[in-house]
Amino acid sequence: MSNYKIETKCVQGGYTPGNGEPRQIPIIQSTTFKYNSSSDMGKLFDLEASGYFYSRLQNPTCDTVAAKICELEGGTAAMLTSSGQAASFYAVFNIASCGDHVVSSSTIYGGTYNLFAVTMKRMGIEFTFVSPDCTEEELNAAFRPNTKAVFGETIANPALKVLDIEKFANAAHAHGVPLIIDNTFATPVNCRPFEFGADIVTHSTTKYMDGHGAAVGGCIVDSGKFDWNAHADKFPGLTTPDDSYHGVTYTERFGLEGAFITKATAQLMRDFGSIQSPQNAFILNLGLESLHVRMQRHCENALKVAKYLESNDKIAWVTYPSLESSPDYELAQKYLPNGSCGVVSFGVKGGRAAAEAFMGNLKMAAIETHVADARTCCLHPASATHRQMNDEELTAAGVSPDLVRLSVGLESADDLIADIEQALAAL
Ligand SMILES: *Cc1c(COP(=O)(O)O)cnc(C)c1O
Repeated sequence: MSNYKIETKCVQGGYTPGNGEPRQIPIIQSTTFKYNSSSDMGKLFDLEASGYFYSRLQNPTCDTVAAKICELEGGTAAMLTSSGQAASFYAVFNIASCGDHVVSSSTIYGGTYNLFAVTMKRMGIEFTFVSPDCTEEELNAAFRPNTKAVFGETIANPALKVLDIEKFANAAHAHGVPLIIDNTFATPVNCRPFEFGADIVTHSTTKYMDGHGAAVGGCIVDSGKFDWNAHADKFPGLTTPDDSYHGVTYTERFGLEGAFITKATAQLMRDFGSIQSPQNAFILNLGLESLHVRMQRHCENALKVAKYLESNDKIAWVTYPSLESSPDYELAQKYLPNGSCGVVSFGVKGGRAAAEAFMGNLKMAAIETHVADARTCCLHPASATHRQMNDEELTAAGVSPDLVRLSVGLESADDLIADIEQALAAL
């Protein structure tokens, strides 16, 4: 499968049925699996044989879909999680624990920011947030002896900032730690961060991968390239025996290609149980089968809408990385040459009140706390997610009071533009 193009991997990856087997991936709706002898099962618990025993840790349907995403990203191992939040948490917590430190881009999804700055901080892990536009010197200055990872988003939600993945990968590697990239908005169709030096990729599969607003889910993929043994002192959890798993040393037993995901499954999935349901994995796979077709259309539509907005004098500003006027245009051309994503943000002249009135005038674009869906939706953060903040606080948080976040769907771009046009005209 590895020689096929991304379009073929979207359709065919992860699953090749044998003679007379189901054409579509089977939903293994079973919590547990039967064995003939206790010693057969004992080998599974010792990680000496591979196989399934309990769906809180691993399920065949989930693994089939994870294998497809692994192929799409060009990785060596992958796992599904119950949500994107669980994927971000596991990816970091698998290598950082109490007393450790992580460097993160400051423009990341609000839920991830809260996870890092509040919840994981309570667990004793400290985060330093750096501007994605920082110089190499500023980035290097953020590292400490106890730094265990660097984190960023290919295209930040909702700032739509494109990360210079190579700059962040070089700094991470110079300090002996991996770069973890949340590739949710770009998807592997538009960017494969491993090709630019990232070591681990995470996804909220809830967004474009599902793409129909049907199933919450997440995924972690390992490139297999980070040499944990070369920095063994930093990553004892991977390079020394795990007493909670019969003394297995993950890098020794599973190699660089399998150590990270096996540890995350054997320890974190065992203890936290944020597994994706096999039903959701099946729904996710339906989305993946058309991901390449949908991403192309999302991007085409979003670019048309962004260009229209730029030309309308009732619009104060437009942010979309694939617009030539974008400060991130160069980065977008390097990392996202085939298109960025379907999300466009813009300001309506007249501030908070005008933005709110504009949203109320829309007939097709629905008001939702969601993005990356087949149906166009939009959100005015100042009157929804960031409602408690005044204009000064909003500006400090990087969310201007007039900001409208539009997630452009798969409808006709003409109809979408007509809807926006009438909503602006009625202001
Ligand atoms: C939505 C989102 C998440 C969180 O994913 P859930 O599936 O909602 O838990 C993480 N990162 C990004 C970039 C997102 O857009």
